[in-house]
Amino acid sequence: MMVTCFDSHCHLQDPAFDGDREDAYSRARAQNIGMIVPGYTMESSAQAAAFGKTHEAVWALAGVHPHDAETFTGRDLRALEEMASQRPVVGIGEIGLDYHYMNSPKETQKRVFLEQTQLACRLGLPVSVHSREAEEDTLEILAQVPGVRGVLHCFTGSEAFAAALLARGFYISFAGPISFKSAHSLREVVGQVPMDRLLIETDSPYLSPAPWRGQRNEPLRVIRVAEVVAAQKNYSTQQVFAQTTANILSAFRLIEI
Ligand SMILES: [Zn+2]
Repeated sequence: MMVTCFDSHCHLQDPAFDGDREDAYSRARAQNIGMIVPGYTMESSAQAAAFGKTHEAVWALAGVHPHDAETFTGRDLRALEEMASQRPVVGIGEIGLDYHYMNSPKETQKRVFLEQTQLACRLGLPVSVHSREAEEDTLEILAQVPGVRGVLHCFTGSEAFAAALLARGFYISFAGPISFKSAHSLREVVGQVPMDRLLIETDSPYLSPAPWRGQRNEPLRVIRVAEVVAAQKNYSTQQVFAQTTANILSAFRLIEI
């Protein structure tokens, strides 16, 4: 199998792909793109794992998003552990805190994030973290779980947040927003994250990069994200592909190409 580039975070199991999931996968595969498909609910985690089982360039993550933290039970935690013990699941995600939408109460989000982070650590797996308007609490939870490793996905935060995550050994993953015209300060953060700690993603079906902003996104467009990183860092796009692929293999150690 040829994989020369990775979309580190795309929800191909999402209903937004019900009409053309195989085509979206094939369009990415025609460019040798590998894909990590995170869950966001128990059901979508199982769907991600099932999709990965039948698609050789797909690996899955199992986890419950902060939006659904309120539904998360002890039984779900045991089910996640069971899912995470089988390939193609290679990590826990996406998990985290979202104080923008606040679909679940803060304290519940924090507890569910902590429980899933502890699970990942116990299993020796990386986490994929979503953090929106919750930088301080995100760092506080991670600090409670020594030895946790992983990725902050779709980074849109401050320079100080990026620095704190890097100090913890985390990888920083950038998505379509780095291509938006007004995203000057975010592109500065891209410039500052060391190349060996940087990942790229689409977060499909969300956040299409420019010039497709507002349209449904798909894994193929990770190429556009790579181009923006390349321009920002004075690398070639091929160099960005190669380095971010190497980074994926060290962040998600169970992936074998
Ligand atoms: Zn996501």
